[in-house]
Amino acid sequence: MEQIEDRCELYVDGRWVEPVSSASLPVVDPATEMILAAAPDAHAADVDAAVRAARSAFDNGDWPRLPVSERLEVLAPLAERYDDVIDEFAALITTEMGSPITFSQMAQAAAPAHMLRTLLGIADEHPWEERRPTSFGGTTVVRRLPVGVVAAITPWNVPQVVIVAKVVPALIAGCTVVLKPAPETPFDAYRFVELLEGLGLPDGVVNLVPGGPDTGRALVSHPGVDKVAFTGSTGAGREIASMCAPRFVRTSLELGGKSAAIVLDDADPVRTAVGLRFASFLNSGQACAAQTRVLVPRDRRTEFIDALAAEVESIVVGEPSDPATEVGPLVSLRQRDRVLSYLSIGAAEGARAIVGGPGRPDGAERGWYVRPTLFDSVDNGMRIAQEEIFGPVVCVIDYETLDDAVALANESVFGLAGSVWTSDRDRGLAVAGRIRTGTLGINHYGADFASPFGGFKASGLGREYGPEGLDEFVEFQSVGLLP
Ligand code: NAD
Repeated sequence: MEQIEDRCELYVDGRWVEPVSSASLPVVDPATEMILAAAPDAHAADVDAAVRAARSAFDNGDWPRLPVSERLEVLAPLAERYDDVIDEFAALITTEMGSPITFSQMAQAAAPAHMLRTLLGIADEHPWEERRPTSFGGTTVVRRLPVGVVAAITPWNVPQVVIVAKVVPALIAGCTVVLKPAPETPFDAYRFVELLEGLGLPDGVVNLVPGGPDTGRALVSHPGVDKVAFTGSTGAGREIASMCAPRFVRTSLELGGKSAAIVLDDADPVRTAVGLRFASFLNSGQACAAQTRVLVPRDRRTEFIDALAAEVESIVVGEPSDPATEVGPLVSLRQRDRVLSYLSIGAAEGARAIVGGPGRPDGAERGWYVRPTLFDSVDNGMRIAQEEIFGPVVCVIDYETLDDAVALANESVFGLAGSVWTSDRDRGLAVAGRIRTGTLGINHYGADFASPFGGFKASGLGREYGPEGLDEFVEFQSVGLLP
């Protein structure tokens, strides 16, 4: 287990400073239920100081006015610095929030490093200023100007992925940033800010104010903020959108999901089940894009369900630091209880847990573990099929015709992700085109950092990654020139 020390300071205006109060929030190890360390619960006055610093750096400082190429030169060494601490980030995030270490090495640490390089590469080619001929013979100069002071508010489940996806494009675009990480995972955010220190960013360009939802609310409602880049629950996203609307503060919102894996009648049951073992249960099911509704053709349901049940039965539940572990503890007592409550709700609704169900996994005396659970006899209208559970719980729903499968996949308030499982890739692509979600995979699920990621419907607004992710941090300005 990674040793973690208390953090007592905030990063404001290029310095580590004492918060106005001694209020702090403990981080509890999900595997042992012991307190690991604490970090400040920043007060509205701390948020005010951080936003003022970011505002001043934006309005009066050099950073937004540098050519993009110079900003990229300042940021380039970050990629190497990040590579040097991949193992440290993996161990730290596993300790903070219980992500299985093998998953952390890949998705919590190597993936953000890869994203960082991808974004820096895309930014180098991005059309920051274009000249377009007009119909009357003149020219319009189309500029991408930085949107301003960005409030970056992030969740605990993939903390570095989300921090890099917001802070790096914002800095590339010339914005200044106030980062508020989730109270469950403040420590990796501190390490990230330490990596940024010494790069030569002017004071006030990056600020860190850890804390809970009230710290986030103080940030969102601060008049000095131009844009809120938020990832988290749909409920919090709705509240943030309504707080931002009166002032037309820009928002990008990456929210929840209830993604469907559509298994076509020509799919191989074993290959599909092996793929879903990862795509549905990754990060112990605490993944916004987890494939949590598996739609199977009724006339082959037994084959698919048997193959899936065999995979879920054999998922290794254990200590998050053990490389063999596939499902670790959930992040918090609250999250564990929430998932257990959905197991009861499912049973009361008439669904049948054919694998897992309530109770602790064998051998887990301590820690917020739940058993990987597969529900059969699920109707798409049930709460367990409509609400985001955010744990290792998957519903199997059967369908009669392909049109029914498409309708079931789309009968959701969410629209984040999905997948199609088939032996015919073109057929899979055609089905994917009928699904109202932002990303899909054929015979797998995975996000690509060079392509847009985000949600339809209640899964959010805007996109991250790729050139589209850079454009979330710009305002377009068109300047007309006469012939
Ligand atoms: P959460 O909404 O409880 O909290 C997210 C962040 O927002 C935290 O930093 C929290 O302190 C802060 N916050 C909460 N309420 C706020 C408010 N009213 N105003 C300002 N800040 C507020 O979410 P969580 O439990 O940390 O994360 C899990 C959720 O995140 C899931 O719903 C998951 O689907 C979603 N998520 C989405 C994506 C995506 O890209 N779409 C990625 C990861 C996680």
